[in-house]
Amino acid sequence: MMRRGFALLGGTFDPVHRGHLALAEAALEALPILRVDFLPAGDPWQKKRVTSAFHRVTMLRHALQYDPRFRVDEREVLRPGKTYTIDTLEAIRRRTGDSIPVVLLLGSDQWNNFSTWVRWREITDFAHIAVAAREGVETALDEAVRRWAAERTVEPRRLSEKGAGYVTFFSMPPHRTSATAVRRTLATQPLVEALKRLERDLPPAVVQYVLENGLYRPISYRQKQT
Ligand code: ATP
Repeated sequence: MMRRGFALLGGTFDPVHRGHLALAEAALEALPILRVDFLPAGDPWQKKRVTSAFHRVTMLRHALQYDPRFRVDEREVLRPGKTYTIDTLEAIRRRTGDSIPVVLLLGSDQWNNFSTWVRWREITDFAHIAVAAREGVETALDEAVRRWAAERTVEPRRLSEKGAGYVTFFSMPPHRTSATAVRRTLATQPLVEALKRLERDLPPAVVQYVLENGLYRPISYRQKQT
């Protein structure tokens, strides 16, 4: 397999968990890419409560620090206001030139919402799209997206042929975890109970960071700490 270019994994990463890492690992195994750049979203205006970008980025750095195939791309958290994926891809493409493959990784939940993305049909002008099956999420596509994707779907290995324009699908070992489940556990369970889930769902350095900073714990608990 000739490896060229890189993939982007966008998300809130509030916090980064083993499902994200498994998705990135599966992408490196299935796709002809050299690395995966994690692309944390800026503090969003739609979701009411999101942990500050500083904590989310620091947790990503802790999770990815020992693996040179993974990087953090901070461009969206450094830009004020809402950033659309299409604008980020356009900026990345300006930097890489036309021929380097750039692959946008999507979990199947995001793929199901794809028709709501701003200028979704133009995404493949700037990048390939690779969709990973996510455990517990059925594919439920808009007819328009289904037809559009069918016209450009190829085998994963063909992504190295050109910089952008293809859609492909790959599978990953199921990971039932989500950031929502991690946050809910910390907000509602006694710490001893929550720890079991944290150790199962998060890399050790992220567990430590969450505990040291009192993240996701009820406010009453945090006050007791000080
Ligand atoms: P939340 O629960 O806060 O909505 P999340 O765990 O779904 O968050 P995001 O940061 O929104 O995480 O996700 C980033 C990307 O990772 C998305 O493409 C999403 O589909 C994918 N992803 C998240 N969790 C998993 C998982 N367990 N298995 C496969 N893909 C996942």
